[in-house]
Amino acid sequence: MLVRADILERDESGIRLIEVKSSTSVKSHYVMDCAIQAWVIEQCGYTLSSIELMCIDSGFVYQGNDGYDGLFVRHDITDQVREIMGDVANWSNELATMLKGACPETNVGKQCHNPYECGYFDYCTRDESSYPVRVLPRAGMVPHELKYEGIEDIRDIPADRLKNNNHEWVRRVTVSGMPELKPEATAMIQALGYPRYYIDFESIQFAIPIWKGTRPFQQLPFQWSCHVEHSTGQIGHCDYLATDSNPPMREFAETLIHALGVTGPVLVYSSFEKSRLKELADMYPDLADALGRIIERLVDLLPIVRQHYYHPEMKGSWSVKSVLPTVAPELDYKALDEVRDGSMAQMAYLEMINSVTEPTRKAYLIERLKAYCEMDTLAMVKIAHFIEVR
Ligand code: SF4
Repeated sequence: MLVRADILERDESGIRLIEVKSSTSVKSHYVMDCAIQAWVIEQCGYTLSSIELMCIDSGFVYQGNDGYDGLFVRHDITDQVREIMGDVANWSNELATMLKGACPETNVGKQCHNPYECGYFDYCTRDESSYPVRVLPRAGMVPHELKYEGIEDIRDIPADRLKNNNHEWVRRVTVSGMPELKPEATAMIQALGYPRYYIDFESIQFAIPIWKGTRPFQQLPFQWSCHVEHSTGQIGHCDYLATDSNPPMREFAETLIHALGVTGPVLVYSSFEKSRLKELADMYPDLADALGRIIERLVDLLPIVRQHYYHPEMKGSWSVKSVLPTVAPELDYKALDEVRDGSMAQMAYLEMINSVTEPTRKAYLIERLKAYCEMDTLAMVKIAHFIEVR
């Protein structure tokens, strides 16, 4: 067994093991992690005087000038670790036995995504049917119960088996193979006035804040895209992207306020944008009224779509990326190359604002970031038009 301790500190009472995590709280799998490290260290003949987790204090506010005192908070978990250290030898033996045998048979489940995404997911789901029961939305233990009953495919679930209306709807549509759009949604979209603004934000979070006045893991918006649809049918587009390493939040808010005018619904797809607008209003009291008026104009498309539209190929997901191929297959996120999702956008942004990035590379990343965010709002336009039955 090989372990690599983050910090070993020697003092008069012995050796202290300190495990550093970017998390803001003690989690049970960290205690297991420390138990393995502590067990190996003590098997090597050293006795640990204490075992600590060093986490990030979520209440820390960076005051600038490299003033990071107070960023970390230390938790003594010696007792918790010692309680389970006796199990480590068994874990090790069990794993060694498993490695000598055939590939273990196991069902995919919550453990595949929590506490971490498992890299074997594609492998473990390689023989699944096209519509596995695990994609039933917010289904808790239902997929496990179905598998226990020998049902692997949504199309094999008996008509009277599912108690939840939403699950039954997904089953019925999947069995029929025909998408379903409930007419109430069409009426909701048709009732919206003009101009209609479709907006989407990208944001960045830093474990260690780099901008004065910000906290660890605070969502800091750096880019927005907006499609504007007029009653004439004409559609325009505008956007904002911070391209240097200065804090982007104020300029983000000011440019957005200017772009959204004073009337017309502002369509979003999730509550993410509303949360960021509220935070910006708290951050900049002089912009709070204007941002508050934008919040009052928000219309969230996601619950409308979730409650009224389902296509078998959405496979239990109502995300833009799942819905779009069923309503506008000509738009393809895969064609976006280097920036195709939110995490890629964050990586591209960090590289783009880095002073060592070559100008040609920076220009390319700016273009890719803009194309990605524009695709998100164009996708919303397409989804709204589809529901409106244009
Ligand atoms: S994906 Fe990973 S966690 Fe899930 S069953 Fe396969 S090996 Fe286990």
